[in-house]
Amino acid sequence: MSSPTDPTDLGRPDFGRPDPVSDRGDTVCVIGAGASGLTAVKNLREAGFGVDCYERETGVGGAWNWRHDRSPVYASTHLISSRPFTQFPDFPMPDDWPDYPHHSQLLSYFERYADHFDLRQYVWFGTEVVRVEPVEGDRWDVTTRSTGGYGPERTSRYAAVVLANGHNWSPKLPRYEGLAEFRGEVMHASSYKDPAQLRGKRVLVVGAGNTGCDIAVEAAQQASHCWHSTRRGYWYAPKFVLGRPADQVNDTLLALRVPLRVRQWLYHMTLRLTVGDLTRFGLPKPDHRVYETHPIANSQLVYYVGHGEITPVPDVARFDDRTVELTDGRRIDPELVVFATGYLPRFEFMQGRVLGDEDGSGRPRLWLNAFTAGHPTLAVVGLVQPDSGIFAISHWQSALFARLLTLRATRPDRVAAFDRRVRAGLGERYSAKVKDSTRHWFEVGHADYLRALQRAWYELEAGVNGGQPR
Ligand SMILES: Cc1cc2nc3c(=O)[nH]c(=O)nc-3n(C[C@H](O)[C@H](O)[C@H](O)COP(=O)(O)OP(=O)(O)OC[C@H]3O[C@@H](n4cnc5c(N)ncnc54)[C@H](O)[C@@H]3O)c2cc1C
Repeated sequence: MSSPTDPTDLGRPDFGRPDPVSDRGDTVCVIGAGASGLTAVKNLREAGFGVDCYERETGVGGAWNWRHDRSPVYASTHLISSRPFTQFPDFPMPDDWPDYPHHSQLLSYFERYADHFDLRQYVWFGTEVVRVEPVEGDRWDVTTRSTGGYGPERTSRYAAVVLANGHNWSPKLPRYEGLAEFRGEVMHASSYKDPAQLRGKRVLVVGAGNTGCDIAVEAAQQASHCWHSTRRGYWYAPKFVLGRPADQVNDTLLALRVPLRVRQWLYHMTLRLTVGDLTRFGLPKPDHRVYETHPIANSQLVYYVGHGEITPVPDVARFDDRTVELTDGRRIDPELVVFATGYLPRFEFMQGRVLGDEDGSGRPRLWLNAFTAGHPTLAVVGLVQPDSGIFAISHWQSALFARLLTLRATRPDRVAAFDRRVRAGLGERYSAKVKDSTRHWFEVGHADYLRALQRAWYELEAGVNGGQPR
């Protein structure tokens, strides 16, 4: 409701005038109540901050809450990273859960996490953030409204903001000549929920990310035919190696500080001993070494290729009304095309330049994938694509941010040094050299990344370095 400022207005409704900004003092705003938002709320509360968290959906869990229309998970989604490498460091998943739990277990995990730390009381469900604007004194005006646009907008002023809005919501759709004329069914993987959608159809799956491979495997079992189109050859790693989840074996090598070249050699040897020569199955030879693209963990894809249930094909060249022409000149006639071509991050509530996205590409320019130059009261949490689970990374990112905010009151010199470090570190990478594509914008090796985060924390505490070259 508007509140009149002129005493002579008293009692007169004034619907045309914008509501005044409600000042929330030292309270921190968190956007999103998925894994990253929940852990941010928890860590900020533990550091003594008031928190308002806005979540446009009606429950916690973000991407893992498949009851929400926008959730990108499908009926058969299981973790790709194994349980101990995914869980929050202070909230283990139950010991009797499998190595790779189902998405319904993940949702119950987040619900338990929220209840255990009593987080729901800080979340405004069904409320979407439509604008976030910096104002004087490193503070932020955050404008919200009911999801779907009902009711008035409200603006509140916060001491700091955490963007934990996730990066698996906005489908990335490729453009192809003739696609608009194609008369078959076309969907993005974000709309794929259930294998019944594939049953009995001739299906073309485009894209070899983990989702594309999962859908191709389901099509192999449900569809009358499945073509799997990939732009290049990939390494399809089994989910288990030596009877252990593959990421745990990899982590043992990382812990022993085995050099990248040796790890690549060992990985190639393991693949040679398990899946063998991929070209024998008709799969293209990878044009890169392992760790140079985001790892694909799928024990079944090569199996179904070997059983003739998946036909590997190259990239799509163009569509016409009934057929699809491939780059090798072949024509195929799918009834359903599923684009498993990934997602792009979106911060539509904020001007791109605040996040350093000067060229409008949509890619924020951050240090540690979290901090932006000149805005010490803003952090992005969860904008990473690790070779392991995300939740521990989100936990430590938000714990560091909470510490930074705490030090603002007592040690502004350290916060200034931190900002210099942010400026000096923009563009730093925390992974092996990966292919340059939107798919790898946020790729991090979890061990390198967590080490860098730990270093940043030590420097903040000790007030050292301050962006000077080491
Ligand atoms: C098929 C699939 C498999 C995956 N497997 C793994 C895995 O094995 N391991 C792993 O670690 N990760 C995996 N992921 C990645 C997954 O994104 C993360 O696990 C996790 O969901 C990230 O949490 P988040 O909170 O950062 O983002 P999200 O889960 O996306 O949550 C973001 C939240 O912000 C809310 N939000 C967004 N915009 C607004 C707004 N304007 N106003 C209010 N609220 C807003 C959303 O509603 C959502 O609830 C997988 C993803 C997919 C799609």
